[in-house]
Order: sequence, then C-alpha cells, then structure tokens
Amino acid sequence: MLEIRFHGRGGQGAVVASELLAQAAFLDGKRPQSFPFFGVERRGAPVTAYCRIDDREVRLRTSITRPDIVVVLEPGLLRAGSAMEGLKPDGILLVNSREEPAALPAPAGVRRASVDATTIALTHGLGTPMMPIVNTAILGALAAASGAVSLGALEQAIDRFVPAHPAENRAAARDGAAAVRVAPPLTAGHSRGASSAVARAPPLELPDAPMAVASSATIATAAWRTLRPEIDQRRCTRCNFCWKFCPDVAIELNAEGFPVVHLEHCKGCGICAAECPPGAIAMVAEG
Ligand code: SF4
Ligand code: SF4
Repeated sequence: MLEIRFHGRGGQGAVVASELLAQAAFLDGKRPQSFPFFGVERRGAPVTAYCRIDDREVRLRTSITRPDIVVVLEPGLLRAGSAMEGLKPDGILLVNSREEPAALPAPAGVRRASVDATTIALTHGLGTPMMPIVNTAILGALAAASGAVSLGALEQAIDRFVPAHPAENRAAARDGAAAVRVAPPLTAGHSRGASSAVARAPPLELPDAPMAVASSATIATAAWRTLRPEIDQRRCTRCNFCWKFCPDVAIELNAEGFPVVHLEHCKGCGICAAECPPGAIAMVAEG
C-alpha cells in the first residue's frame, strides 16, 4: 500500500488534490481512499489530506502517520517542522518550491523533489497571485516523480471531476510533470536539517484557563504565512497606519519613523497593505 500525505493551506486545493489522486488511481485500476483533516476553518490555515492507494480494498481508516510520500503545497509549511513527521526513510518529499530539490531539508534516504507549481498555476490562470491554486500542477509532478498514478489517468480524473477550467488544469498537470526536479537521496550523516528543519518552539506551559496566552513568537504563527508584506519606503508617508492596524504587532517603527516588519511574527494577513493609504505595501508570495 502506498500512503501519501498532503500539506497545504486553506484555499490551495490540498483536499481536492488528494481526491483527484484517488480518482486517478481508481482509473488506473487501483483501490484508493482519500480523506482530509481540517484545523481552524480559515483561508491560509494549514490543511492536511490523506490518500492511500492499494491493489486491494483499503480497510484502514486512520490518518497517515508513516507516509511513503509527503507533498507540500506551500514551502512555508516546512518551517512548521511537522510536515515531514513520520516520512519513511526511503520515502519521497515533493515541495512546491522554486528551490532546487537538493536545497530541501530532508532525512538521509529520502528522495527530494521540487516543482514551481505556483508559477505553473498562474501561467494557466488558476487562482490569483494572492492565492494560486497549485494542486493540479503538483499532482502532475507527483505522477512523474513517483509513478503513484499515470499522467493519463490524472488527466482523465481532472476532466471528470474538476468543473472549472479543466483544460487549464490538465495543462498545469502536464507542465508539472515536465518541470519536476528530483535530487538523489542524502546519505547517512548528511541529512539537511531534517529532524530540526525548524527549531521547534518549547512546549507551552498552559494556564488553568480555557485559553492559552502566549506570544506569537512562542507559538510560531508566522508559519501560517503564504504572503509577506514588502514596503516601498519611497512611497511611505510615515502615517503609521500599518503599525496601528497590524493584528500581530509585527510592525515596528524605526528611528526615522518608517515601518519595519518582523517577519517572524507576521501571518501575512495583508491588513497592513489594505490599510496603507498611498499603497506603499505589496503582498508578495513566499517561496
Ligand atoms: S501582513 Fe501586515 S498586518 Fe498582517 S501580520 Fe503581517 S505585518 Fe501585520
Ligand atoms: S501605512 Fe503605508 S504609508 Fe503609512 S507608515 Fe505604513 S507603509 Fe508607510
């Protein structure tokens, strides 16, 4: 049995990716299973989806804790450190990233693959620059890098089950398959920050109350970010609106009164850009 775990954010299409993969596996004559896990219901919040593919009926109904393949739709999720949890030593890590796969953190033995699914999705008009829908591009890359499903079955599944822009989604899948890059596994002793891909926050000491109170530095809210604000100082009038409106207190004013964003606290909500009167803040994609 092949077990695949998807990590994405609300709005990126991780759940649909898992379902489409299962449909493609079915068209390939396999017996698949797919189901999602949602955390908080909010655009940008982490979403996990699971897909199992076997030759026989899959009776297991648990979440996937020892995946053969981990697919990360948004590279910022690697910062959270949990995406690779349990990945088998001879597994595959596939990340939507402009980086070469050799630069990806991974334990020894894991095959690393990367594809710039964001650019592919935007090239085909799938989603918006603020929220590109990268699922079909990364599924094409997954088909090519792992052989989990055939590209033909994936295209058929897209045709049958994607109601909007099926032709563009099929083209994105083909481009993803053509563009995926695979690095050889690292040998023991040369793993790249796998067990400590991101320094984990120390465990919180929770108060005896229904709500935990902690700073956003401690609970790493910046790991949610898909977009980051970039400030054009030439257009900034130093009105301080961004500083006032940032809900995460991620903006500080420097000695000259210009705003400075502390990205380790920024969730990428875009409120500062929306509130900036002269439009001096642009939200740009991470990764
Ligand atoms: S995007 Fe802007 S408003 Fe939102 S958390 Fe980051 S700095 Fe604050
Ligand atoms: S809201 Fe815009 S103009 Fe005002 S301080 Fe922030 S960046 Fe500058």
